Amino acid sequence: MYRTHTCGELRLQHVGTEVTLAGWVQKVRKLGGMTFIDIRDRYGITQLVVDDSASADIQDITSNLGREFVINATGKVIERTSKNSKIDTGDVEIAISALSVLNKSDLPPFTIEDDTDGGDEIRMKYRYLDLRRNAVRSNMVLRHQIAFETRRYLDQMNFLEVETPILIGSTPEGARDFVVPSRMNPGQFYALPQSPQLFKQLLMVSGFDRYFQIAKCFRDEDLRADRQPEFTQIDCEMSFVEQEDVLQLFEGMMKHLFMYVKNVDFSEPFPRMTWHDAMKFYGSDKPDIRFEMRFVELKNCRNNSILDNRLIEDELDYEAILNSNDYKEVFEVYLNIFGVFNSAEYVGGICAEGCAAYTRKQIDELTEFVKRPQIGAKGLVYIRCEANGTYKSSVDKFYSQDILKAIASKFNAKEGDLILILAGDTVKTQKALCELRLEMGTRLGLRDKNVFKPLWVIDFPLFEWDEDTQRFYAMHHPFTSPKPEDIEYLDSDPGRVRANAYDMVVNGVELGGGSIRIHDSQLQNKMFELLGFTPEMAESQFGFLMNAFKYGAPPHGGLAFGLDRLVSLFAGLDSIRDCIAFPKNNSGRDVMTDAPSTISEEQLKELCLKLTN
Ligand code: ASP
Repeated sequence: MYRTHTCGELRLQHVGTEVTLAGWVQKVRKLGGMTFIDIRDRYGITQLVVDDSASADIQDITSNLGREFVINATGKVIERTSKNSKIDTGDVEIAISALSVLNKSDLPPFTIEDDTDGGDEIRMKYRYLDLRRNAVRSNMVLRHQIAFETRRYLDQMNFLEVETPILIGSTPEGARDFVVPSRMNPGQFYALPQSPQLFKQLLMVSGFDRYFQIAKCFRDEDLRADRQPEFTQIDCEMSFVEQEDVLQLFEGMMKHLFMYVKNVDFSEPFPRMTWHDAMKFYGSDKPDIRFEMRFVELKNCRNNSILDNRLIEDELDYEAILNSNDYKEVFEVYLNIFGVFNSAEYVGGICAEGCAAYTRKQIDELTEFVKRPQIGAKGLVYIRCEANGTYKSSVDKFYSQDILKAIASKFNAKEGDLILILAGDTVKTQKALCELRLEMGTRLGLRDKNVFKPLWVIDFPLFEWDEDTQRFYAMHHPFTSPKPEDIEYLDSDPGRVRANAYDMVVNGVELGGGSIRIHDSQLQNKMFELLGFTPEMAESQFGFLMNAFKYGAPPHGGLAFGLDRLVSLFAGLDSIRDCIAFPKNNSGRDVMTDAPSTISEEQLKELCLKLTN
């Protein structure tokens, strides 16, 4: 027997027992006549002791041990005189009576400890060693638990797990496909699935009723912290459901996962927010609602929400307006005095509680922050609400104290608060303000990773207008159904048509999303037409689906969760990389196996491929 116990198992109650352990040498320490060996496996670390009385054989093996040697040790469990409360087995140690080396190890390129000296690149190259570290392994354990509990919940709810193919035609999730040349069909290519979307809809036509799959998906996109070229979805579809049924069932799944994996109990229903409100108040379709700091719009010409852009006219009675407490009026009249606000499509801001004491330097930092190219704001206007009821602002010279007070009251700002305002074109400025809000949230410690605030974002627009190509794209995908009450605008005003589409967002992370699908071929054809597909294109790409829909497609809908994001959220990680056993780096490379790589002339020939430069 290689082992009787694991390295994480022994406690005081085992004292006196003879045990055998197997594992890796984490560390060897000599202290006088004693040698201590830390032996590690997946379950923990146990201390072995070799003293002067040990056989020459053991002494000899001990003195030749190196880090990461695989060993096998037998001995009696004894109580430690000086206990180590940092490890679970810290009350005991093993006085060894037999020791053997099962395998030697080269000196590892970095220390395999919680705090390693290895940089990112080297740990990725030796990922199999990195995975020996607690911090990385525990993410994989968490991943297993989430996948397991997902299966348990969905099984209880009558879902069937069905595998769908990896070598397929293209799926329309809006990213670039990874393609695979077909040797048997020269000149033709498979695409790897961006998601199992079409197959799961076909399974509904097959009468499977409730489907799920923990599925690999592939999208050739530029990479970010929360993106990998291949990633895993918890992909689900249901028949005979409306949006409400889907939201209820999967809210249940999230609660189940929070309960059984994180021990977090949500008794209240998850809040729901329309896409429109999410954009208006948070400038994002995935708002982080761990903290308020909602946007206050001073002006938004795009939505005609506040201003009619009246310019200051001499005959207006400012006194009366200020005294009337009608602050809306005040903005309409006064806001435009400042040229930047006057020419902007949108003026909006946030109120950071208790930040009036921010120094010039801190405000400059925030200005630099919003001016970074990826954020792209031109500058930042601040109003400090001072303790004595006065206001200090970067635009003092344009605005009297009364006007600043009026603006502050619009923000419900109290003495001691700091108002930060951005102006510019609506979409860009809302985005920049969203980043600024998150930055302030972080600075104020309002984004605690141990606090979870889920919500549903609903009523997404069906289409998204693209300026570059001057056409509409499906915001979700072409199979998403419009809200029945908006169908009448499909031709006249596609931009205002809302979809039966929803996203689950937790702490500002889009964890999943889906929609109720179109199950009527006529409406589906209409969608293809609106999205610029000729009937021939639609037929060649989706003919099989349209054909299937002729044979009794039930009303259906579903969604998919990003498993990697879910694990990284539960683990409190910033990147999804550390919860994937063998991830790719930022250039999409697997540095361990050195993929992608070139292939031989012979292989190219077989595939009828020729490389250009
Ligand atoms: N296939 C969709 C996606 O990957 C999810 C869904 O609509 O069910 O985002």
